[in-house]
Amino acid sequence: MGEVKQGSLSIESKNIFSILKRYLYSEQDIVFRELVSNALDAVEKRRTMDPSRGGRVDVRLDMDMGRLIIQDDGIGMTRDEVDRYINQIAFSGAEDFIKKNAEGADQIIGHFGVGFYSAFMLADRVIIETKHMEGKSPAVRWECDGEMHFIMGPGAKTETGTEVILHLPKDSPYLQAPQLVHDALCKYFQFAKTPICFHAPGFDGMAVNPAKPLWQQAKEDIDSSAMESFYQAFFQDSAPPLSWFQFSSVDLGLRGILYFRNTKNGADELDGTVKVYCRGVYVGENIPGLIPKFVNLQNGIIECDALPLVVSRGDLRNEKGQAQSEVVALVHECLVQEVAIELNDMFTKRRAEYERLWP
Ligand code: ADP
Repeated sequence: MGEVKQGSLSIESKNIFSILKRYLYSEQDIVFRELVSNALDAVEKRRTMDPSRGGRVDVRLDMDMGRLIIQDDGIGMTRDEVDRYINQIAFSGAEDFIKKNAEGADQIIGHFGVGFYSAFMLADRVIIETKHMEGKSPAVRWECDGEMHFIMGPGAKTETGTEVILHLPKDSPYLQAPQLVHDALCKYFQFAKTPICFHAPGFDGMAVNPAKPLWQQAKEDIDSSAMESFYQAFFQDSAPPLSWFQFSSVDLGLRGILYFRNTKNGADELDGTVKVYCRGVYVGENIPGLIPKFVNLQNGIIECDALPLVVSRGDLRNEKGQAQSEVVALVHECLVQEVAIELNDMFTKRRAEYERLWP
């Protein structure tokens, strides 16, 4: 059971490592999205079994040792799971896929479901220390250098959960500027439900995500000046919004808020910014095909549990403008309806307000 297992990942994986490394400087923030999402999922899985548990994720930059550590108190992995999910990665057809879809690391990771391996975009050596919540399950340690060779054996972890330890090269930009890690965490996880704390010089274990984001609170609980400050900082708009409304669709697991921009002073940009999240994790903004063109004239935040983390070209629209994925089509449709209903409501039932905003 506890014996040490060694091996080499498949030949095709060697290719994918070198391919991922090519995107190192343009897309390295993806690593944070993938590893912290895995940690959040693990916390969520444990919470499903024990709803009284809160759970948390800690991201630590160890400047002395040059390490970045992502730690969660989630469900953990058994030895079999590490073997199945981490060792036995299958990249069959990788070469072909990459030739046909040269869209970058994001698409490769999404297509092959190999988020964990994005760790090698940043690190020379990666270690997993994990212990599954099942009491009798022994702790496991897994280690791999960027050369495809791994060692898996008994671990030292006593608490349930997982630590992913990335050994960064000395010249890693993250070791020069912890702010970069903080910015990446905020970009992706500002609205995540489980607390994510960042430990690094100057950051003191500060949470990157507030307990309950303002835009998700019930309208009657929201203080309008607090909303205006949030809006102006979040969208970097010099003017507060004219008006805003919230919407949701239970079937789609969709929630959102749309702000009608104040363009009186000649806003610099014609288009606004609609940011898209999936289960609290940032997916992208102004995604064509997902956000209707006229909705994108405004600013907004939408969160949809059914969307994939990587919305690829293949999910969007074909040349005829038809959505390729059902979720994308449904979200698009829902946004069209919500905006139409709100404007119609204002026009018919709150005419004075409508005329004040758009004389
Ligand atoms: P994906 O998340 O797309 O399935 P990954 O390569 O990121 O692909 O992860 C593979 C699997 O490894 C996950 O589905 C999960 O079962 C397991 N795993 C990864 N990280 C963790 C973690 N922090 N805690 C528990 N399980 C994990």
